[in-house]
Amino acid sequence: MTRVRCIVFNSALGALDYRLPPGMDAPAGSVVVVPLGPRQILGVVWDEGELPGEEGNDPWPEHKLRAVLEVLPVPALPAPLRRLIAWAADYYLAPLSAVARMALSSSAALKGSGTVTEYRLTGEEPARMTPQRLQALDLLHGEQATMRELAEIAGVSEGVLRGMVGQGLLEPVLVDSDRPYPAPDPHFAEPELAEQQAEAAAEMVAAVEAHRFQPFLLDGVTGSGKTETYFEAVAAALEAGRQVLVLLPEIALTAAFLGRFEARFGTQPVTWHSSLKASERRRAWRQVAFGGAKVVVGARSALFLPFADLGLIVVDEAHEIAFKQDDGVRYNARDVAVMRGHFEAVPVVLASATPALESLQMAEAGRYKRLVLPSRFGGAQLPRIEVVNLTELQPPRGRWLAPPLVEALQDRLGKGEQSLLFLNRRGYAPLTLCRHCGFRFKCPNCSAWLVEHRLSQRLACHHCGHEVPPPPVCPECGEPDCLVACGPGVERIADEVGELLPGARVAVVTSDTLASPAAAAEFVAQAESKAIDVIVGTQLVTKGFHFPELTLVGVVDADMGLDGGDLRAAERTYQQIAQVAGRAGRGAKPGEVLIQTRHPKAAVIAALASGERDAFYAAETEARREAGAPPFGRWAAIIVSSEDEAEARDAARAIGGARPDEPGVLILGPAPAPLSLLRGRYRYRLLIAARRSAEVQKLIRAWLAQLRFPQGVRVAVDIDPYSF
Ligand code: ADP
Ligand code: ZN
Repeated sequence: MTRVRCIVFNSALGALDYRLPPGMDAPAGSVVVVPLGPRQILGVVWDEGELPGEEGNDPWPEHKLRAVLEVLPVPALPAPLRRLIAWAADYYLAPLSAVARMALSSSAALKGSGTVTEYRLTGEEPARMTPQRLQALDLLHGEQATMRELAEIAGVSEGVLRGMVGQGLLEPVLVDSDRPYPAPDPHFAEPELAEQQAEAAAEMVAAVEAHRFQPFLLDGVTGSGKTETYFEAVAAALEAGRQVLVLLPEIALTAAFLGRFEARFGTQPVTWHSSLKASERRRAWRQVAFGGAKVVVGARSALFLPFADLGLIVVDEAHEIAFKQDDGVRYNARDVAVMRGHFEAVPVVLASATPALESLQMAEAGRYKRLVLPSRFGGAQLPRIEVVNLTELQPPRGRWLAPPLVEALQDRLGKGEQSLLFLNRRGYAPLTLCRHCGFRFKCPNCSAWLVEHRLSQRLACHHCGHEVPPPPVCPECGEPDCLVACGPGVERIADEVGELLPGARVAVVTSDTLASPAAAAEFVAQAESKAIDVIVGTQLVTKGFHFPELTLVGVVDADMGLDGGDLRAAERTYQQIAQVAGRAGRGAKPGEVLIQTRHPKAAVIAALASGERDAFYAAETEARREAGAPPFGRWAAIIVSSEDEAEARDAARAIGGARPDEPGVLILGPAPAPLSLLRGRYRYRLLIAARRSAEVQKLIRAWLAQLRFPQGVRVAVDIDPYSF
């Protein structure tokens, strides 16, 4: 009898043993269906030797073993990916099944091979409508997927959908989910590289050709042509017949990337992100696994895809905090990408104009190879940066743009050039209050104010999505027309621009307005065809975009990110402002950047104005070293939450009471977490600051293992948290 150990999904059970029926073959990595109680669930066969210590259970007596039901007809998860999954589960203290699950797709993708019947709406107007059918019509708009997937999407039973097929509302389509994608051509349009580009490219190409692990820090100023440079490494991987993964921090950036990729390689890459349709997702997953998807560009979730033969990983805008996942498995995609490169024995390129301090430190220590592109491509100059001191040059009351910025905007409009105003705040105003009684609109589920969105006429919570229409009277005192907006958001700045520059065409760019790749593509097309004069945007506009006619960037409030006492605040402010400044003057015309601040002497502002990046990073590095902060020390957080405040507090206290006493490990808290109420859950936090050499994971695991919590309590561990 053959015993196999499986990681089973949908459970906190860890690994379970099953037996293989005669004639069934299931090597490690095979995706299987196994019985669990009365149900059938998915699992992955795992080599016992590969399991991290805690996950294995005692061997189950042989006569009690149940049989594996089915081995699914997809390639077994390759050994390097299994090692990555086991490493991530161990490092981030996540259940192995939760990490393994990120490598898989829907069960239809796992089962379906060859031709699949999918369904889509016909556009017929139904004669007789039930609420369920209405719901399906609404939710299935634009979808095409199998019956089972559609039922999931629409939240109705398959029976309801079959009824709709009978009524002619849904129609079947036969699709071949195993058709490969067109292969990108490495020679389609080879650019002439500038000398600095060619040197950097040669290093990366050599590592790709050698199939050798090597992290690169591609450190090039904005507009230096980093993309064209790493495209050479992509071409080398394609030439060798291998696959490539490119990670981008935001879906909104993929639209621009797709166009550039197609111009270079003659066809678009395969995309992977949360807004893919079910049928696209199925095809993409299968082609990644079978090798028919050569280049995949995606958000961080693409990191765990089961590539058949990976040759290169690129993390673009690698400093971005969007690579940190903050719920479910809390991992940092940049760090996991480097580990995947290690296990796959392939180079990993981290590209950025403002690298994370951690990455620079790794380069300094010789672990990453730093490739520097010191100047812009094609002789374009870096923009001139000037500081507008708001304590001397104040905007008029109720306005946010100071006179020098207004003049600069008028000047560009007159010349037919584009401007960009950056303020990292969505909506119209961050706080709304009643002028009569002072009532402030607060989210019922979170410790946060409701943000007014005037374009969509909503007061919205940016943490849980709770929304209400602005009420006609104050809910507290009943006074009509009493609401006052406090502070600016991008929509309010856009209004101000509209008043100051009548006739200017203003576009607001945030995750609200650029929610889909299609909307992002539309925006890029408009900006490129000069149908927009002034862009007002959040951090979404700070990166990736290349608009040659954009010559002015205004930073509305450089101080915003500096408040709050977060140790990374200065670094993040530096990165955001340097990135947004990098949007100016990328074409033939020189760019100018105006930074509005009340603290012109702050180190970060001074460094931006003088262009002394290295000095700024050196000072930041010293500050971190002194504080024992990452990368010189290890940090972790334990977050305890419950819908019941007392329960959360008691659990946090119990954890605090059981704190281990370990030399070199400092444990702080529990204290209310920065968002002490989030999505209806009260949150407490403990912080762990340890020496670099401390085995923090082991310590936390042993610490929490002795405690039991009530049902409603959730305990999450965040290794390398972003704020402290
Ligand atoms: P970065 O990502 O470093 O900010 P980009 O890759 O966006 O810079 O390059 C800036 C501009 O220069 C883009 O329009 C790009 O197409 C162009 N460019 C860069 N390198 C080359 C090259 N070797 N040949 C032609 N155009 C290039
Ligand atoms: Zn909320």
